[in-house]
Formats: sequence, C-alpha cells, structure tokens
Amino acid sequence: MRLSKYFLPTLKENPAEAQIVSHRLMLRAGLVRQQAAGIYAWLPLGFRVLKKIEAIVREEQDAAGAQEVLMPTIQPAELWQQSGRYDDYGKEMLRITDRHDRPMLYGPTNEEMITEIFKDGAKSYRDLPKNLYHIQWKFRDEVRPRFGVMRGREFLMKDAYSFDADYEGAVVSYRAMMLAYMRTFQRLGLKAIPMQADSGPIGGDLSHEFIILAETGESEIFYDSDFETVDWVKGGYGYTPASLEKFFAEMTARYAATDEKHDKAAWEKVPQARRRTGRGIEVGHIFYFGQKYSAPLGLTLAGPDGRPIIPHMGSYGIGVSRLVGAVIEACHDANGIVWPDPVAPFRCAILNLKPGDAACAALCERLYRAIPEALLDDRDERAGVKFGDADLIGLPWQAIVGPRGAAAGRVELKRRAGGERQELSLEDALAKLLG
Ligand code: ATP
Ligand code: MG
Repeated sequence: MRLSKYFLPTLKENPAEAQIVSHRLMLRAGLVRQQAAGIYAWLPLGFRVLKKIEAIVREEQDAAGAQEVLMPTIQPAELWQQSGRYDDYGKEMLRITDRHDRPMLYGPTNEEMITEIFKDGAKSYRDLPKNLYHIQWKFRDEVRPRFGVMRGREFLMKDAYSFDADYEGAVVSYRAMMLAYMRTFQRLGLKAIPMQADSGPIGGDLSHEFIILAETGESEIFYDSDFETVDWVKGGYGYTPASLEKFFAEMTARYAATDEKHDKAAWEKVPQARRRTGRGIEVGHIFYFGQKYSAPLGLTLAGPDGRPIIPHMGSYGIGVSRLVGAVIEACHDANGIVWPDPVAPFRCAILNLKPGDAACAALCERLYRAIPEALLDDRDERAGVKFGDADLIGLPWQAIVGPRGAAAGRVELKRRAGGERQELSLEDALAKLLG
C-alpha cells in the first residue's frame, strides 16, 4: 500500500476524550473513530488488525474441533422469554420492535439461539459432542462505555458453545477450549493467565477468565511465573482427552487469582522466586453451565438406551475487538504502538526520505515489490513527520531510504521493538525482513 493513497487520518494531538493509552493511540494512529458512545467505525489500518486477530482466533477454534457458523445480530425476544433471561437481562439489552410490533433485540450473546439451532438439527446422542462458534458483533448497552473499544457497546466477540451427553464429556470440551485459548493468546503475542472465576449458580470449578498482562489493566492479579514461560503452541499439548486432562491438571495446579479471589495461604506456598503480581485485562471467559439452557428450551435427544438425554453445555467467549486495545496496552512505548508481528497491520513501513530523488524512489520501489505487506511512505512530507508517523502506527520494521544510502544501494533497517538500526544492502535487508 502506498501511503499517499491510503486513508490514514492520524492525529498529532492527544484526543481529550481518551483516558487510557490504547484509546489515545487507536485514535491518533487512525485505527478507529467513534460514531456514538461505545460504537466505533474501523478505519483501514485498524480493520486490518481486527481481521488478523480474528483469523488467529478462528484457526485455533477450528484446530480444537469447533465449527464456525454465523448467527444473526438481531434475535426474536421469544427465545429469551423461554429461557427466562428476557426480563433478567435488564437495561444492557437493546430492545427493538419491528413494523409488526414484534419484540426483537440486538444479541448480547447467543446461548438461546444456538440451543434452538442445535435442537432443530440434532436427533440423537450420536450428534454429540459438538462445538459451534461464530465471530459476530454484539450489543450491550453498558452503563459506562469507556476506554475505546475495550468497553464498547457494540463489540466483536468470538463465542463458542459446546454440547455434550454428560458432565464428563462437557469437561473434555471445556479443557479443549482452555488449551485453544492459551494457544490463541500466545500466537497473538500476549501472555495470558487463566483465573478461576465465579461459575454462578452451577458451582464447581469450570469457569475461567483469561487475563492478559498490561500495566494499565483494570484488575490486580497474582500468579505463578510458570504461566509466562510455558510454550502452549510448541509444548506438545494435544486435544486427546488424556492429554487435555494432563494439561488441565497442570493449569489448575499453578496459582493465579485476581485481588478479589486472592488466597494468602495458597500464595505463600508458591516458591518466592515464582510469585508475580501485576495488572491485567480480561480478554476471554469460558464456562460450563450444564443444562441451564438445554432444559428450558427443550433440547432433548434420544440416548443410547432410548431414554431421552438433555445435553450439557458450555460457552466460551473471546473479546476480539477488545483485543485490539488490549494488545496496544501490552505493546506500546512513548512514541506509539509496537505491534507484535502476528497482528501487525503491515509488516514493514518503507520510508522514502526524499521522494523527488530518483535513486531513493528506485530503491523504495524494489523494496516495495519484494516485501509482502509493506506500507510505502511516498508522501511529500518532511523526514521528521515520516519518522513520527512510522513509530506511531508501530509496524514491526521500518526500511529507511535516504539519498546518501540509496546512491550506494543501502537501506537502514529499524526494528520498531527495541529500536535497533542497521545499515544493510538491499539483499541483506530483505533477507532479514523476510527471514
Ligand atoms: P466484563 O466483565 O468485562 O463486562 P463479561 O463478563 O460481561 O465482561 P463475557 O460475557 O464473558 O464478558 O464476554 C466474553 C468476552 O467479551 C469478555 O471476556 C470480553 O473480552 C468481551 N467483552 C465483554 N463485554 C465487552 C464490551 N463491553 N466491550 C468489548 N468487549 C467486551
Ligand atoms: Mg460485561
């Protein structure tokens, strides 16, 4: 992409309405614009990041055996009346009436709808287990939308729903999602800690929130440093029930808690050198809720002995749009965003410091053609402006081309994280960038 043609409205000043760094940087780097309180439009650069995060979330859901569907954003109120949640949900639910005076709503979540869909299509226990997910916009009329996309009213969520014949099956589905989440957050370049959360009326230990480490996070957390060092992707964890059991035992043996749940006695048992405290942001939540929706919505399947069974369910959410803000909270410096490679909107910014110079232009074009996902700053702007914008939008690499270097066929390669610079030949620069 050529920056001279790209729609990238960056801001020089910090917008007054933004209280936290990710919100400021998302506005300044031209990623989003607010359209109403807690409702955002995604501009080209921000939308690329959202899509990259979504793609990694999707790959890991698919790898864990979940199947993607797409449910509508608008739902009939009737379904929610059957589950009993229509009245309970309160003002967070955006209620709509269609032209025939039918009560509808903009979905804040999809347990009722997925249960209805599965009920319509499944016949017997042979249709179990299943895990269905979608990545779809939600609406929750939050009392205090704030922090940009981190607590919006309209936001993108990945929500998966598992159906199993019994509790034991549901446990396997739950553990599989937990592993998928650890892999997902690691691939996004984040350190995520699973924390046992309230499981509501069902009880038990099958409810976890995933908190990523960021100094500006809402909650204070205490955790075992082991969580930071294990490699969930390459560590040999698999999706067989036996492997998941081992994985889950390891996870739950390690200490992790938010300040509300902090247990001093258990904390003392963690070796001193492994005790970490920090702050974090919730980016995902998984829980098992048994027959809470399957029973009232009449999801009954024929069991192996002919007797009817009511499937056990769980639901598994990831805040896809919140993650864009959360990644920035975790990855930025005084000059701007520092995107982790896997979610960066482009791989490299090519900075032409003298667009009128033939050697500069020629070298930039060669780089531009050779690097997939390059953003070429070919604008007629001062070098200082280009440096500033490149740091602000935070692409992992900057290839800086000035007249002196270009005459000698050399380019200065800067790594955004850490800031090291190296002057290299075109070939060496490309090898480094693409290697
Ligand atoms: P919170 O406690 O932050 O309100 P929640 O418990 O209501 O979250 P869930 O219903 O578990 O959230 O939703 C799953 C995920 O969706 C959350 O972990 C979070 O990442 C994301 N999410 C929830 N509410 C919002 C919101 N208002 N804006 C952006 N993302 C959200
Ligand atoms: Mg909430």
